[in-house]
Amino acid sequence: MSDLRYDGRVVVVTGAGAGLGKAYALLFASKGAKVVVNDLGGGRHGDGSSSKAADDVVEEIKKNGGTAVADYNSVVDGDKVIKTALDNFGRVDVLINNAGILRDKSFARISDVDWDLVHAVHLKGSFKTTQAAFPIFKKQNYGRIIMTASNSGLYGNFGQANYSAAKMGIVGLSSTVAIEGRKNNIHCNVIVPTAASRLTEDILPPELYAELKPELIAPVVAWLCHENCTETGSMIESGAGWAGKCQIVRADGKLMRQTIADGVSVEKVRDSWDKITDMNSMQHMGSIQEATGALMSSLEGLRSGA
Ligand code: NAD
Repeated sequence: MSDLRYDGRVVVVTGAGAGLGKAYALLFASKGAKVVVNDLGGGRHGDGSSSKAADDVVEEIKKNGGTAVADYNSVVDGDKVIKTALDNFGRVDVLINNAGILRDKSFARISDVDWDLVHAVHLKGSFKTTQAAFPIFKKQNYGRIIMTASNSGLYGNFGQANYSAAKMGIVGLSSTVAIEGRKNNIHCNVIVPTAASRLTEDILPPELYAELKPELIAPVVAWLCHENCTETGSMIESGAGWAGKCQIVRADGKLMRQTIADGVSVEKVRDSWDKITDMNSMQHMGSIQEATGALMSSLEGLRSGA
């Protein structure tokens, strides 16, 4: 099998001045892509800005013989980030929404600023960059998008209600962008990473931290963004060289009405609870039609008296 290359492709990586984004930018550039290294260069909590983070990565790419340009805009100005790709390379093929900050506080102590800043960078930033790139992808009938979620969103994590909410918002955003992009060969997938970075240096246990190199996740992201990869609308968790697909599942559940004339009482819900929450028969729903289809067929059954 031949090597996978990205020659002629223009890849925008947000938050590429450090951590995971840097690993993505270096890998894409080493495989022939022209890379926009976006990074605001601020602090971990969304404070300040600097050109150094992006400049250092661009310099490293160039030193290795690759092609890259720095972009210092905040992802909140996503149209400006995409404009940098167009101004410098005349096109954009891949967008990796990776920029991120943390403003951890226990739920009761989260301020409006903590909430708004985290949502601005993660959720609105992903919206703005993607909305700027989407018409370009449509026109060229090609595009690959990565959104970045987190296990904190999927499962919750103490002190991260603002971040968890924004990250799950990103999952919803990705699912719909994947549906709307499908007919134009625009794929959109979510990566759920676990890696050593400044965001996790005081969260991950030290013995784990050393093993969780961002470089072990970058190839998973790169494959999802290759023209030969057909995956879209999916969520892939990855870390330490492991990767696996995640899905939302639903119990088989219970229809609590015997006839169309029946209502549902709180007592019926109580008495059905074991079956409603029995995950032994869980299923993944592939689409909203599939999910509501199960309800519709229950209703049909009631109507026909089956
Ligand atoms: P990191 O702090 O090393 O990198 C994030 C980069 O984003 C930084 O260089 C920062 O300057 C940049 N950035 C922040 N705000 C920006 C903005 N408004 N515009 C442009 N750039 C901005 O952290 P990381 O761990 O590499 O995180 C990358 C992504 O992965 C984030 O979205 C994070 O939430 C997510 N994530 C990371 C982990 C992990 O284990 N490291 C786990 C789950 C999710």
